[in-house]
Amino acid sequence: MIIKNLIKINNCPICKSNKITFKGLIRSKNTKIDNNFSLKLCKNCNHRFLSKFPKIKYLNSLYKKNSNHVFGHDANEESQKKYFKKNGFKSVISLNKHWIFKYVDFNNAKKYLEIGPGLCRMYKTFYEKGWECNGIDLQPFIKAPGIVKSFKYVKKNTKNIAVAFDVIEHTTDPIQLLNNINTKLKVNGLLFLTFPNADSYKSRLLNSNWSMVVPLAHINFFSKKSCELALNKSNFELIHISSFSLVEPKRLIKNFIKLPAKILLDIIKLDINSIFLRISEFSLNILDLMHGDQMKVVAMKKRKLNHKLNY
Ligand SMILES: [Zn+2]
Repeated sequence: MIIKNLIKINNCPICKSNKITFKGLIRSKNTKIDNNFSLKLCKNCNHRFLSKFPKIKYLNSLYKKNSNHVFGHDANEESQKKYFKKNGFKSVISLNKHWIFKYVDFNNAKKYLEIGPGLCRMYKTFYEKGWECNGIDLQPFIKAPGIVKSFKYVKKNTKNIAVAFDVIEHTTDPIQLLNNINTKLKVNGLLFLTFPNADSYKSRLLNSNWSMVVPLAHINFFSKKSCELALNKSNFELIHISSFSLVEPKRLIKNFIKLPAKILLDIIKLDINSIFLRISEFSLNILDLMHGDQMKVVAMKKRKLNHKLNY
């Protein structure tokens, strides 16, 4: 890890408080990152963040060159990217079901913006319904009609909805990102976000061992409070915020049925450590179903108050 590309962070990136505590050194399979970062917690707004942030230019260059400093944490990621590169946007299958469809009538085509559309499934859904779509993605192989490299290519005050799924945790300046999105939306336009939930049981129990804590992919970990603050600072009104879990109940039940046999085998092998790991993983997944380690948010662009007007 090149030190000159990193900036030490002493205050909360969201509320600017200096009441910060240390939550543990971060281990990584990537040797250049292993033990190089620690996890910090803001006592004022419960926001969690890396002890050092990469400089923006450096971070952008990592995304552009598909660096293992920011990718490679998901086993399926590479094969899905290969498929997209080979078969292109036309092969992308749109979505039938999604929680955001509760808030949007996608049959009524308007103007859509997505930040980090990645493999473009949501993007394709709106595109197919005839929406005027724009997307911003740093990865050069993400090619689809309307995908551009930066915000400057998107007209201001034009978009009816904006989507940024699993994006704000990747940026060093989430408030700037939210401000940029805000300028592109019409007044009352809706913003949809998902991100790792710093208030979740997994986050609070595991701290720097939480699977979402992966430098330099994830930099900021929002709590409900820090998310509300960030939205407020960027001219959004919070409409909905709730946690959800990526744990599949069916899979958990299957694992539960197999658990006694697996533990029995561990006892025969005298592998106490394995028994401990199995029970703790199972318990954490149960807790996660109760208070998931992901968050979903709906917010609305507010009308800006014009302070120059005197009534
Ligand atoms: Zn804070």
